[in-house]
Amino acid sequence: MISAASDTIAAQATAFGTAALAVIRTSGPEAIDITSRLAAHPERVLSASGYSMVHTYLVEPDGSTLDEVVLAVYRAPQSYTGEDMVEVFCHGSVPGVQRLLAALYGAGMRPADPGEFTMRAFVAGKLDLTRAEAVHEVVTSQTGAAHARALDRLEGSVYRRISAAKDRLVAIMANLAVQIDYPEEDTGEVPIPIETIVEARNDVDALVATYRVGRLYDQGATIALAGRTNAGKSSLYNVFLKQERAIVSPEPGTTRDYIESTLELEGVPVRLVDTAGLRDTREAIESEGIERTRRLIRHADLVLYLVDGRGGLDPGEDLPDIDPQRLIRVWTKSDDPRCAPPPEGYLAVSSVTAQGFAELVTAIGERLVPEADRAVTTVIDSLRQKQLLERASSALGEVLTGVDRGVPVDAISLDVQDAIHALGEITGEVTSADILDAVFGTFCLGK
Ligand code: GDP
Repeated sequence: MISAASDTIAAQATAFGTAALAVIRTSGPEAIDITSRLAAHPERVLSASGYSMVHTYLVEPDGSTLDEVVLAVYRAPQSYTGEDMVEVFCHGSVPGVQRLLAALYGAGMRPADPGEFTMRAFVAGKLDLTRAEAVHEVVTSQTGAAHARALDRLEGSVYRRISAAKDRLVAIMANLAVQIDYPEEDTGEVPIPIETIVEARNDVDALVATYRVGRLYDQGATIALAGRTNAGKSSLYNVFLKQERAIVSPEPGTTRDYIESTLELEGVPVRLVDTAGLRDTREAIESEGIERTRRLIRHADLVLYLVDGRGGLDPGEDLPDIDPQRLIRVWTKSDDPRCAPPPEGYLAVSSVTAQGFAELVTAIGERLVPEADRAVTTVIDSLRQKQLLERASSALGEVLTGVDRGVPVDAISLDVQDAIHALGEITGEVTSADILDAVFGTFCLGK
């Protein structure tokens, strides 16, 4: 059993860095009391009702001023965590915030762990685990499309779907339990509504299928520009940079072997990579670059293969040997009078006039997220949820096979129970401290 916390935590909730304002969050039984001890007028804080703001100076025990702040006071259980909370709106100075945090810790709070505020909210029953995960997904979303889907999850779209499937199974389980407990009442028929099981399984499978798109909106896709030297890769790369919205990547810097940028294409965060031109060479550094390009082509979500429209494929030039779904063929330099009409299967593009560029972006969007998938707004984006849904689906598969083979009701009921258990683990009704550590450990500080 996971119980409510007895200590009081604090952490900066806003990003580290210089800004007009910063917010420090505190939560726990002593949040109001400890904060009041730093306030120039403690009684104003102590007497503040829930959902009220207090304007005050915070001062060190030695009397030196920490900052002029506004405190938002929340009283349990009406707060994000369900505990007493104070949010400190202070000036966004890095040393200023650090001094303030040090003073709060010195007065009896402790630094919050990543995700601890949301974990406390979960423990207090303020949100289920799918919504708790959605909090993190909303905060880290990189595009409008990803943000909108994460908000849907926060609002409970995944929770409702899973609960509906689970409720059906619980009702079936109740019937089975009667059958097992009172076998003498046996009517000779196994009371398992096959159709309901099939429907529940279809629903679970449909959610599993949304993971690819959910993941794509969240993690993004890698698109490689490939082709022979002088095919026009760098020129097209620059058109992408000029015409599409660049995303400031939240990932820490990594060593990069290629020129690459992160853009938003049709709602998907895209890592666009301009690769080394593919040609035979004896030059060591260049051949290393080409080897990396080949590797990238093997792993990219999409490869734009560029062929110079003025000459077509070079003798001995082969298109990459990859799944055609991952390949878009581009016929470059279409503005040039020497450019031949594009052969079947090629998209003609000019990097000079941008003619054909919009069509290329549409083609990319259609490949990444096919039209049918765009309309689906309830998508999952958590590997944990996907794996548990798969477990539920396979347990329901066992139920169906069991019924088919005339397996005894008590054995079948174990599989129904397993499916219910897996669904319950997704929403957090069935949970352990390990699961919570794994879920909340990925959160940022202050959430
Ligand atoms: P890369 O080696 O594949 O990166 O090719 P570049 O982008 O460097 O282009 C090779 C040459 O083709 C350069 O001289 C470019 O100016 C020219 N070029 C590239 N794209 C176009 C285009 O759309 N129209 C015209 N007319 N020239 C282009």
